[in-house]
Amino acid sequence: MAMEVRRRVPPPHGGAAPAGHHPRRRAAAGGEGERERVRVQAGDALPLPIRHTNLIFSALFAASLVYLMRRWREKIRASTPLHVVSLAEIFAICGLVASLIYLLSFFGIAFVQSVVSNSDDEEDYLIDSHRAQAPAPPAPAPCALLGNPAAAPEKMPEEDEEIVAAVVAGKIPSYVLETRLGDCRRAAGIRREALRRITGREMDGLPLDGFDYASILGQCCELPVGYVQLPVGVAGPLLLDSRRHYVPMATTEGCLVASTNRGFKAIAESGGASSVVLKDGMTRAPAVRFPSARRAAELKGFLENPANFDTLATVFNRSSRFGRLQGVKCAMAGRNLYMRFTCSTGDAMGMNMVSKGVQNVLDYLQDDFPDMDVISISGNFCSDKKSAAINWIEGRGKSVVCEAVIKEEVVKKVLKTNVQALVELNVIKNLAGSAVAGALGGFNAHASNIVTAIFIATGQDPAQNVESSQCMTMLEAINDGKDLHISVTMPSIEVGTVGGGTQLASQSACLDLLGVKGANRESPGSNARLLATVVAGAVLAGELSLISAQAAGHLVQSHMKYNRSSRDMSKAAEEADRPKKC
Ligand code: ADP
Repeated sequence: MAMEVRRRVPPPHGGAAPAGHHPRRRAAAGGEGERERVRVQAGDALPLPIRHTNLIFSALFAASLVYLMRRWREKIRASTPLHVVSLAEIFAICGLVASLIYLLSFFGIAFVQSVVSNSDDEEDYLIDSHRAQAPAPPAPAPCALLGNPAAAPEKMPEEDEEIVAAVVAGKIPSYVLETRLGDCRRAAGIRREALRRITGREMDGLPLDGFDYASILGQCCELPVGYVQLPVGVAGPLLLDSRRHYVPMATTEGCLVASTNRGFKAIAESGGASSVVLKDGMTRAPAVRFPSARRAAELKGFLENPANFDTLATVFNRSSRFGRLQGVKCAMAGRNLYMRFTCSTGDAMGMNMVSKGVQNVLDYLQDDFPDMDVISISGNFCSDKKSAAINWIEGRGKSVVCEAVIKEEVVKKVLKTNVQALVELNVIKNLAGSAVAGALGGFNAHASNIVTAIFIATGQDPAQNVESSQCMTMLEAINDGKDLHISVTMPSIEVGTVGGGTQLASQSACLDLLGVKGANRESPGSNARLLATVVAGAVLAGELSLISAQAAGHLVQSHMKYNRSSRDMSKAAEEADRPKKC
């Protein structure tokens, strides 16, 4: 079987297989199905308040019906054939049909949606779960509102009041508000007011205004009721590969930006850091099942045979200008086969891109392996947002190594410690300590602190910090033990400068600060790769600074223990016990 398919020529570029060709075909990249679920309703047709539109169409319906019934009765009395219609009757029929369509689509769909949404917790989770948990939502106490005018809800226009009441009653599903109203800010305000009435919680601290809700529609966040504010600090300059970067970090952890900044200073005063990108490829690994392990192994053999690579690449590459297949690596569990596809993705982080390419290949393979049952487009051998050895060993996204030589005097002056203490601490903590803990890619002090802060500031997927923070920090004494060589090896930095949250205003501004906003037209992929090296450079600085602080703390304790007399120690203890002034 495998021999037969090897030389089969794939369909021409862009020629998708006909719909329904494979009965078991499952959806590829996420997003499309979610968007289809939201329907435009007849109420959106006219730029009038819903109440008025409903009145107009109800009146039209009644008038047309009465007129046509009368005409019908008259024709029967006069024995006139029913199919002979006057112009007025044609208008009346059109009016009847139009108003019927309107009324059915407005009330009928709203009714069906409310029935469906009541029975489907996932689709309208927010409203339904609260309704289930709070059978008798407390109304906001009038005295509380009087006592705190800021907490008083904004007076809503009458028509919005009606919609809020319908959402609270479950008659209008909350998730259709954006499409139904055509105004994302208004939809968020109505949803929030409905939530306030259901839960009795004001959520005063969560801002509603000052955010472009249209920019997240269908892409970044569903059912919005506001936005969370996060401070963004800037550390820098990071002198990396002879360029200076000012690095935005969104965090609520005190000292993190300052500590990274200190690391940047040490790096800059030592002449800068340098980086190398070893690999650049996003992965997706569907899981398929065969009737037997033998058949699964046949497909494995086919996919991993270098002679078939060009065919697979042609099929895979059809759906994107930037997604280019690099290779396929397979693993088996009984009769289940996991195929880890790796592809370059230009400046996109690439999950959508790789998923679409993988779906092309699955569709293609199904013809020659009809007994292949696609269990899931993602079978966790990818492995996305989970701690996994495959990413640590093979890499995912950008695999980067960043290094610097920190001069002896800088270690003393800026980092307030010495090379020997740093090297020793790194071995005991980051290497041996992490080994004792059974760490998987966690051979570092706090890489995820820096990765996550930069990810949030620049619109990356923060959940991918799981694998993106995998890092081994190495410290060595060089130049006769005087200077420090530090490196961070990070095999799975998953970043992009287009798509997802990168296009939102704040995140886009942070990317702009780094000079990597959007797509790089001259050299697609170089913006995302540069961002990955900046992440690694910032991690290098963060490691340097924290390890130094801990080494210095260790030194202080050593001083206290070995260099002071017992009298001094008791004095020190007294000092520590004395109540602090402030
Ligand atoms: P992801 O695959 O990371 O989920 P998206 O599919 O949301 O990203 O966004 C990538 C989109 O941006 C694609 O439609 C792609 O064609 C487009 N694009 C434009 N320029 C580039 C570029 N330089 N690199 C990657 N994608 C690009």
